[in-house]
Amino acid sequence: MYTLNFNSSETAPEEFQFPKTRRLFKSTFVATTVAACTAASLLLIIAFPISPINLKEELEPGKSSCASRRHCHKISSSYHKPPSPYLLSMLRDYEQRHKRCEPLSESFNRSFFQKQNYSTKSHQTSHVVDDDDCSYVVFTRPTNGLGNRMLSMSSAFLYALLTNRVLLVDFGPDMTHLFSEPVPNSTWLFPEDFRFGNRIYGSKVDDFGSLMKKKNNNYTDPVLVNISSSFLHVNLGYGYDDYDKLFYSNGVQDGLQKVAWLILKSDQYFVPYLFLMSGFRAKLDRMFPDKEAVFHHLGRYLFTPSDQAWGLIARFYDAYLEKADERIGLQIRVLDSKASPTALVLKQVLRCAQKEAQILPPLATKQNETATKKLVSKKTSYHKAVLVASLSSEFYIELKDMFWKRASASTGSDEEVAVGFHQASREEVQRSNDGSHNMMAWVDIYLLSLCDVLVTSGWSTFGYVAQGLGGLRPWILQIPDTKYGGGDTLWGQACRRAVSMEPCFHFPPSYDDNKVGVRVDGSSTVVHCEDVGGGLKLVNL
Ligand code: GDP
Repeated sequence: MYTLNFNSSETAPEEFQFPKTRRLFKSTFVATTVAACTAASLLLIIAFPISPINLKEELEPGKSSCASRRHCHKISSSYHKPPSPYLLSMLRDYEQRHKRCEPLSESFNRSFFQKQNYSTKSHQTSHVVDDDDCSYVVFTRPTNGLGNRMLSMSSAFLYALLTNRVLLVDFGPDMTHLFSEPVPNSTWLFPEDFRFGNRIYGSKVDDFGSLMKKKNNNYTDPVLVNISSSFLHVNLGYGYDDYDKLFYSNGVQDGLQKVAWLILKSDQYFVPYLFLMSGFRAKLDRMFPDKEAVFHHLGRYLFTPSDQAWGLIARFYDAYLEKADERIGLQIRVLDSKASPTALVLKQVLRCAQKEAQILPPLATKQNETATKKLVSKKTSYHKAVLVASLSSEFYIELKDMFWKRASASTGSDEEVAVGFHQASREEVQRSNDGSHNMMAWVDIYLLSLCDVLVTSGWSTFGYVAQGLGGLRPWILQIPDTKYGGGDTLWGQACRRAVSMEPCFHFPPSYDDNKVGVRVDGSSTVVHCEDVGGGLKLVNL
């Protein structure tokens, strides 16, 4: 297990380690690791003909997922500060709680079935969750893409840490194979069978918003709300109404402490708003002295690629990215193809990468084209590997051709720059309920996070996850201004450098604008996002 006390002079725990180089290991190493782990597991099964649960206990903590958990965190991040000792101690406490309360444990069954009987009998009698009782946030099967899901899951996890709950996830089959279990030798998967028979879903589960509507007709911040339900649906997703938004008031939070089962539906990164709630603020400040790294730490803790995902990531990285002197990630997400036709987006990407961010060399025009081009060895040239992540293949093809068929304009430097473009997947269309499609999305997100520089698309949660995991402040492509009527003329700035690597909370409740953009406690605050005017994000000011 990890140590409880950690300070910057000590070695960071496994999930947070940041070596000096940004190198993965050789693919042969990946293959041997997977093979060795599989063989070790088989030997254990032969030597101990026992149930899977016992086998799980025989394995060392952290070894239940062979390849990825032990190796992927050894990749460096561009962000080097370790997590605070307070955050680490909360995570260690969480792990204990999670193991005690994991699905189908005695405590889980007690909580689930007692509360079930209880909630079916009457909603009138108030019930208090005892200290030893387990209480939960169940993240329910979402409909949006992976980026949205990962951001809202990390928000739910932070909420669980703050309120001494356990996070369980109710994934469909399209998600179960993407990640390793966050708490080794335990599970965060809400038992499949428990969803049927209206046990959790359906009439026996109260709806938080409707309850608030009954209790509170004018949306005022309730001082204390008595909530007697044991199972409560909370909707914090896009389109939630003002009653749902009362979740963010301190009085309601006091009332929610008594509710054992919160069934959460969300597609938002609602972490910034938790920082605006006085009930959580002091704890959050201790957990995250650096406000820019909240998702970075939560995400790296929660989302370890499964062995299958890890194999795909490692093989691609070894083959196409590892040997480059610099890795550049271009995440191109077209949300509205009318407002953003391909030609316009290409122009925008080039203007951003070549002129504004200056991460790609300019291309030669006819006049300044270099007549001769030496064949350069690795020693004399600087290799840039550009990973293009996009649903479509057209950007990758265009960019690759452009940089191959035309010479780079001379930059005055003796060093030759060689630029190579690579694309890991081209799914062409966004699909839902498709496990292999989600796997490709996860691989792309993770590969982007391994880059040294990122250009991402505004409004895209896909890009937010990559930047947060990688510890990078990306260059954000602006959504083209439609008031000029679209077309392929690029108006204004192509991209802006993000002020922090934190994701944006797209649809927060209305808030006191005086609190936003000013220092709340003298060291940090919440500001509006660069790409989403009404959104909120955490920064260090
Ligand atoms: P957002 O819609 O940009 O905020 O990001 P989401 O991740 O929530 O939803 C977009 C979904 O479209 C992803 O989850 C993928 O399924 C798919 N997608 C979008 N861009 C890419 C990409 O670059 N690569 C892959 N493999 N899938 C993508």
